[in-house]
Amino acid sequence: MPCEVESRFLVLYGSQKGQAQSIAEEISELASEHGFTAEISCLSNVEKYNLDSERGPVVFVVSTTGDGEPPDTALRFVKKIKSLPSDHFSHLHYALLALGDTNYANFCNCGKTIDRRLQQLGARHFYPTGHADDGTGLEIVVDPWIEGLWDALKKAFAKMSATNQEATAQGAIAEKKTEQDSQIQEKLDSSVVSLHLLKLSDVETKKNVAEPSVSESENSETSGAPLGASLIRSVPPLSGSSLNVPALPSSFLDVCLEEIPAEEVEGAQEDAHHVAEEGFYEVPVSRALHLTGDDAVKSAILLQLDLSDQDLLYQPGDAFDVRCPNRDDEVEQLLLRLGLKHQRNQRVHLQLRKDTKKKGAQLPSYIPKKCSLEYLLTWCLEIRSTPKKAFVRSLVEWTRDGGEKRRLQELCSREGSADYNRFIRDTNTCLLDLLQAFKSCSPPLSLLIEHLPKLQPRAYSAASSGLRTPGRVDIVFSLVEFPACPEHPERTGLCSGWLTHHVSTILQPSGTKVLAEKARSDSPKIHIRPRANNIFRLPPDPSVPLVMVGPGTGVAPFIGFLQQREKEREEKKDTAFGETWLFFGCRHKDKDFIFREELEKFVENGTLNHLKVSFSRDEPDGNEPKTKYVQHQMLLHSKNIVSILLAKNGCLYVCGDAKNMAKDVNDALMEMIAVELQLDKLESMKTLAKLREEKRYLQDIWS
Ligand code: FAD
Ligand code: NAP
Repeated sequence: MPCEVESRFLVLYGSQKGQAQSIAEEISELASEHGFTAEISCLSNVEKYNLDSERGPVVFVVSTTGDGEPPDTALRFVKKIKSLPSDHFSHLHYALLALGDTNYANFCNCGKTIDRRLQQLGARHFYPTGHADDGTGLEIVVDPWIEGLWDALKKAFAKMSATNQEATAQGAIAEKKTEQDSQIQEKLDSSVVSLHLLKLSDVETKKNVAEPSVSESENSETSGAPLGASLIRSVPPLSGSSLNVPALPSSFLDVCLEEIPAEEVEGAQEDAHHVAEEGFYEVPVSRALHLTGDDAVKSAILLQLDLSDQDLLYQPGDAFDVRCPNRDDEVEQLLLRLGLKHQRNQRVHLQLRKDTKKKGAQLPSYIPKKCSLEYLLTWCLEIRSTPKKAFVRSLVEWTRDGGEKRRLQELCSREGSADYNRFIRDTNTCLLDLLQAFKSCSPPLSLLIEHLPKLQPRAYSAASSGLRTPGRVDIVFSLVEFPACPEHPERTGLCSGWLTHHVSTILQPSGTKVLAEKARSDSPKIHIRPRANNIFRLPPDPSVPLVMVGPGTGVAPFIGFLQQREKEREEKKDTAFGETWLFFGCRHKDKDFIFREELEKFVENGTLNHLKVSFSRDEPDGNEPKTKYVQHQMLLHSKNIVSILLAKNGCLYVCGDAKNMAKDVNDALMEMIAVELQLDKLESMKTLAKLREEKRYLQDIWS
């Protein structure tokens, strides 16, 4: 085992929602079991590390956000390295794990940018870069990447010390490293679900071969999880197999509950303080309107938010974060399951455990100091999140029944990976679902705080223009619905479900005329926070032609664009405005053609020159060609679109679903460019990439 000095390495992370951070923390925690010492820091914590003088290997874990942008915590770092002279980091040996999502353009762009730049600055890889895809499951790449990291670090230390001592054996080490690199690369490339897990014998004294205690069926194994298995039930061969279970994560929090002295009970005030600290504004909902018919497949609801008492300005293209609570009934059930029903009003006091082995352990910054237990579970923790394997592993320790213990071990083990994906990850099974299924599991509150992520606000695009309706912003959301499955009952999306319920007293049926309405004293209120988007904006030059593609609620920002354009056209009579196209898609002409009247009015007054609508589930009218989706309609107008983009320097905007629509629209665009310009696929891809670089092909998409 290398000695302390030779075994120290640095882990730097750039995280937006905490995923990169938690992977970096995992690396740092596992380091000591492999004989290394890890120092961990966020990239933004510049006083904690100094790459200019860093002599040890550096491991970067960075995510990508938005349209390929660096996470907020990596912004300064990315900017800084762009301005450094070449060879600045020629002393640096590093490995990089990039996180991204192939549902979005510019997959892993931040990681790739940092990697490229570090290479230009002379830094050298000691281990191939990993590109993990949240679209298919980060762990498919992350786990084997971490598994291979330890050997690579050993080699890197050996190589670095050999270099230092000018040892002659350097050539042989490099050869071995290359061999090992290519083996690891092969492993990453194969995309086989080879999960990183410590052998149980490495962390515990005896091998964990629990007796199968759940009933077994005779079903034979299939390619995924065997038939007959369920969340709580396993079947052979898993039920009889010995298991490689991950190391038990170190706990780091001491939590105690204290009675709140009567004179200090301040509830609402406390909440207001927390809300203000997080940058939210309380605004009344002056109007709520169903935009879709009762028989529509999905409901879309418009909210008019009264900003007149707030100093809140926005541009079309911006969005607003909406703060939403966990559902009361789910908080109630959780309190019940934790045995803390009567302590709901007690104050949660958190402290770092003095004996924790967790590197860089910190108190969660998003939990206010004096909050009550009920407040914590309602407003601070994403209790609906899918428990990671490390959480499942920790739950084992708090489960009494032998059979249930064994099943939880299986679900977090290497051997039970297909079951974890099938019964937990793919079904979005949450902690409460696990606690309902595993009756003898009673985790302490501290474990929840250690493992559940921060409850995130949800973003909604402005569907209005402040120029046309000063002091007001409209948002439109579709109610997300998840059908029941064996792992959990039917559910609505957390925020869209809450908003629908929250505004139910003022919710008007579709067909009601959309008039501006003043907020009243009894109007429901919500907390919002502006979320500027400096890229998804109308071009500053109004003569630039525009193509907008926004099916479903994806049309929201374009309503804002068009309102703004309408107002500008009224105010600047002598200005030349470029032509405008909107491709909209919905299921049925008479059920979910949202903003129909407003869009037709834009066409009448010349603000919108071409409105092209596709109805995915209606039969075509008369002789019209069937265009199921927006991209089919676009293909019919490919000459115009290509000419706008490549001859007239125009802009193309896409908003809405990232998973299918945005990808298919991208493919259609590539096809149009290839056909119209007689290019091959590669050339057409390059043309589209150039449009992206020039910020003339812009996406605001979400899955
Ligand atoms: P959540 O509870 O967060 O559930 C949504 C996701 O969680 C699902 O996609 C799924 O992956 C997973 N999930 C959770 N539970 C289950 C389960 N039981 N079964 C299956 N999957 C599950 N949306 C709009 O409608 N209008 C907009 O104008 C809009 N603008 C946006 C602008 C931006 C910049 C961004 C980033 C997003 C925007 N969105 C918009 C999306 C919006 O922010 C929310 O993601 C959306 O409303 C769903 O949130 P939710 O809390 O209702 O659902
Ligand atoms: P939706 O579910 O996306 O459906 C709208 C239309 O798109 C339907 O006619 C649907 O047809 C069709 N469609 C399905 N697959 C498609 C594909 N591959 N290509 C093109 N069209 C396809 O509408 P929605 O319920 O309003 O949801 C819109 C999504 O965008 C939501 O996820 C929402 O959260 C998100 N959103 C994001 C932003 C943002 O990021 N700024 C803003 C607004 C909305 P069928 O169902 O008949 O197949």
